[in-house]
Amino acid sequence: MSGRRGMPFVVSAPSGTGKTTVCRAVVDRDPQIEFSISHTTRPMRPGEQDGVHYHFVSAEGFAELIAAEGFVEHAEYAGNQYGTSWAAIEGPLGEGRDLLLEVEVQGARQLRARREDARLVFLLPPSWDELEARLRGRGTDPADAIAKRLDVAHIELAAIHQFDYAVVNDAVENAIEAVCSIVQAERSGRTEAVRERYGRAAVIEALGTALPIPPARARSESAG
Ligand code: 5GP
Repeated sequence: MSGRRGMPFVVSAPSGTGKTTVCRAVVDRDPQIEFSISHTTRPMRPGEQDGVHYHFVSAEGFAELIAAEGFVEHAEYAGNQYGTSWAAIEGPLGEGRDLLLEVEVQGARQLRARREDARLVFLLPPSWDELEARLRGRGTDPADAIAKRLDVAHIELAAIHQFDYAVVNDAVENAIEAVCSIVQAERSGRTEAVRERYGRAAVIEALGTALPIPPARARSESAG
């Protein structure tokens, strides 16, 4: 391992796609990859530990880190701030450990722009109907809240054009296997087979009309 830098793998998805389950399983199964520990202003949930699941900070503390240019990326999500600090990734990567950054879509866009070495994986729901059913939840939420979630999901789907890979989360075990195989292929440098199978363009084509994915704009098309 001497001299090898770790690789940052970014996993993102439209809300309601089940990315946490997939990411946890990938980190459990692959001993060479670990979660990057983000900062957040949201309250700690039962079972969470400061410095393990997140660095839990006040809004002021978060703003200070932004001002000090401490974040590689940061974004607001559901009324709270989330961000990946340089410190959270540079240490492990410098020591040759691979990282999994589980972030919402705006953060993934920033990482695309700022980290040449980042490999981006987008998880997709199998169909719009399925995503809509998940976002509707138990049917107890007000109609305008559901409509807002669906609007956000449309915008999030459009981000696919910035990702290297796309994996359809039709069955969770398949999605876990897919992400693990992408990580291993990137690590070894032999990516031809995973690109053929999970490369963004191939997956978009295979999906056909199952998801309302808008066409890429000229800039992202020429980028790749
Ligand atoms: P939760 O509050 O459920 O832990 O996370 C809410 C959302 O924030 C999830 O989509 C999660 O992936 C995202 N998230 C967690 N950490 C970060 C981060 O450092 N940056 C960004 N942009 N999003 C994050």
